[in-house]
Amino acid sequence: MKKNLFSLEGKVAIITGASRGLGKAVANGYADAGAKVVVAARNLEDLNRLVADMEQRGGEGFAVKCDVSQDQDLLNLVVKTMERYGQIDILVNNAGISPWVTWSHEVTSDMWAKMLQVNLVAPFLLAREVGKVMMDQKSGRIINMASLGGLLGMPGQVTYAATKGGLLQITKTLAVEWAKYNITVNALAPSILKTDLTMGVTQSVKHSEPLLRRVPIGFFGKPEDVVGAALYFASDASSYVTGTVLPIDGGTLAS
Ligand code: NAP
Repeated sequence: MKKNLFSLEGKVAIITGASRGLGKAVANGYADAGAKVVVAARNLEDLNRLVADMEQRGGEGFAVKCDVSQDQDLLNLVVKTMERYGQIDILVNNAGISPWVTWSHEVTSDMWAKMLQVNLVAPFLLAREVGKVMMDQKSGRIINMASLGGLLGMPGQVTYAATKGGLLQITKTLAVEWAKYNITVNALAPSILKTDLTMGVTQSVKHSEPLLRRVPIGFFGKPEDVVGAALYFASDASSYVTGTVLPIDGGTLAS
């Protein structure tokens, strides 16, 4: 039988921010590709419902309540995964927040502190802990959920754009440092996909019209639009690809 390059059979994946939106879509995609999926977020009820759905389709995984802004919760997530499965092959650093729309002259120090902790420090700390496991294994895949906001100027989003730009630099640095351990580190950069995070913008004609003018494909995407790219970076299909960022943007960057 031909090898399926995109299969995740036998792999263990951790996905943060999996209770809804992009993280949930990726969790479902990975489970359907054969991975055991450890889903993390603050809302345990939503996570348990997701695990039940995955199991109903023949998948496997479990939920861990985790606030990524708490260092202890990040350590606990790694410990729980190792206790259950004894390996971590894939980490998707997906949990993130955004203060749509805050103009730069209104941004406070508290906003910076919160944004930096959740969107930048937490993904690094979790990658550091998971990275130690992956170094011992001599293999691993880390996928950081960045944003087109890390590549373009984003009016009303200065803290968000800065954290996502920083996440791209973490991606490249870890990729270069850890290539010798057969760990790849890549990033996804979606533009605007319809989730709770972007509701304030996608449901407002005033905000959405100028943004849509920058999207050649002509409409906002949906969470499932990131699944193929997330599968690519997690699977053998991308074995020789590291330190890169893949835009999922309906053509925005090209225009
Ligand atoms: P979402 O629908 O608001 O979901 C955010 C997820 O992150 C939820 O599962 C939430 O779960 C979790 N989360 C938030 N704060 C957390 C914390 N402190 N600890 C643990 N989990 C936390 O957002 P989304 O649109 O799916 O976004 C997911 C990622 O994609 C983010 O990093 C975002 O920046 C990025 N992104 C999104 C878009 C887009 O257009 N949607 C575009 C570019 C990049 P709980 O509330 O249960 O904790």
